[in-house]
Amino acid sequence: MKDPRIVALIELQSVINEKNELYRTHEAVPERLEELKSKIQEAEDKLKAAELEIEGMGSTETKVKKEKKQVEERLSEIQTKLNLVKTTREYENRQKEIKAQKDRLIEIEKMTSESETKKPELEKHVEALRKETEDVKSHLAEEIADLEKQQSAFDKQLEEIEVREREKRQDVPSSILERVDKLVLLRQGVAVVPINDGSCGGCGIHVSPQTIQVAKRGLDLIQCDRCSTYLYWDDDLVE
Ligand SMILES: [Zn+2]
Repeated sequence: MKDPRIVALIELQSVINEKNELYRTHEAVPERLEELKSKIQEAEDKLKAAELEIEGMGSTETKVKKEKKQVEERLSEIQTKLNLVKTTREYENRQKEIKAQKDRLIEIEKMTSESETKKPELEKHVEALRKETEDVKSHLAEEIADLEKQQSAFDKQLEEIEVREREKRQDVPSSILERVDKLVLLRQGVAVVPINDGSCGGCGIHVSPQTIQVAKRGLDLIQCDRCSTYLYWDDDLVE
């Protein structure tokens, strides 16, 4: 005969074990999901960086074009006024400025041609990255969908178990519940065990014959002297 509180405890423990088992089997799913999603993120980040580089190149090109126009305008302005100079010194200064503007134009030409060589390469690179990102996504899509399905099945199962857990908790007196929570927490699901072969089913310490008699009557709650687990007598087990 079992004390009804023990029966309630056994039932609660079984629900908690079920919950722990669910957590254990599900453990790998969120980790794997995270891993796959970060692979996609990595590919997207690489693509984004390359796209930004092209964008930056475009705005540099615009700036350089604008400067080229200014330099050319300035150059033709100086050249037009060259015949208006009166002294040799003035003439030399103008020539110096013409040279400086021409040098700058050469630099600009160099920058433009460098950028023109680099741009198609970069565009090709971006194209390759775009394809790579798409490949990674389509390659992982099935597994991600499957994991997400598992995840939502887990959520549903957990919810269902938690409803039952709440119900079972209501059947256990709160003073016992407090202890049980500590025990369950510490021993992963063992809060109440049958006496097995004259010993505690949790830690194996010998249980006195008197205690066994009390357990058999099922009238008092007994806790193991060593591990504090609640003990009960199970008629199916042989003494
Ligand atoms: Zn024990």
